[in-house]
Amino acid sequence: MPAADLPLLCPVCRQGLRFTGGARTLVCGAGHSFDAARQGYFNFLVGKGTVFEADSADMVAARFDFLS
Ligand SMILES: [Zn+2]
Repeated sequence: MPAADLPLLCPVCRQGLRFTGGARTLVCGAGHSFDAARQGYFNFLVGKGTVFEADSADMVAARFDFLS
């Protein structure tokens, strides 16, 4: 696939991404690179990652009330 046809933008700088390293890595013009996971997908999350917060007892109670 020609690089111009790849419909992906770098999540950091919004330049176009292109494959390198035999389609195992995506890299943008500014040098941000994203490696493919072993399962073949690319993770474009940047920063410190997704923070999961456990529900509090109040949140669980509110959901129970809403659903019942
Ligand atoms: Zn970039």
